[in-house]
Amino acid sequence: MSSQERTFIAVKPDGVQRGIFPEVLKRFTQRGFKLVGIKLCTANESLLRKHYVDLQEKPFFNSLLSYMTSGPILATVWEGKDVVKQGRAMLGATNPLNSAPGTIRGDFAIDMGRNVIHGSDSVENAKKEISLWFKPEELVDYKSTLASWIYE
Ligand code: UDP
Ligand code: MG
Repeated sequence: MSSQERTFIAVKPDGVQRGIFPEVLKRFTQRGFKLVGIKLCTANESLLRKHYVDLQEKPFFNSLLSYMTSGPILATVWEGKDVVKQGRAMLGATNPLNSAPGTIRGDFAIDMGRNVIHGSDSVENAKKEISLWFKPEELVDYKSTLASWIYE
């Protein structure tokens, strides 16, 4: 059966403005992952500094901050077996030009600074990011009636 692994997937401001979010919800749902949290929000700078703490010394950090505060973000949490690694594979490479067709970035993006989507890169970071973006009561625990059709 499904493990309880969770990942944080966020449609970035360009992805929201371009209407790519239904496609993201569709792909993760169709794959069999379960949506356990979702909200449209705007990120403030202090949240983003915590979210991207590992990148604060990078030359692109300030443009990343202005990109990520340029409009609403669709924050989501997904649950399922191996969802962190599988989610990253579904996103494609950080640089959309290196992303295979069939991935979200490979299908919908060109520039790194407009790569439409974020996904946690490890189980540990997923836990950190979920707790940064969501309050515990915003995550919904429920049993999917499809679980036995998705997991053997
Ligand atoms: N980024 C960028 N230029 C770079 C590397 C990263 O603009 O040279 C942006 C890009 O939007 C990326 C985000 O910073 O998604 C976070 O970088 P990270 O290396 O964590 O990539 P990700 O985990 O998002 O694939
Ligand atoms: Mg990253």
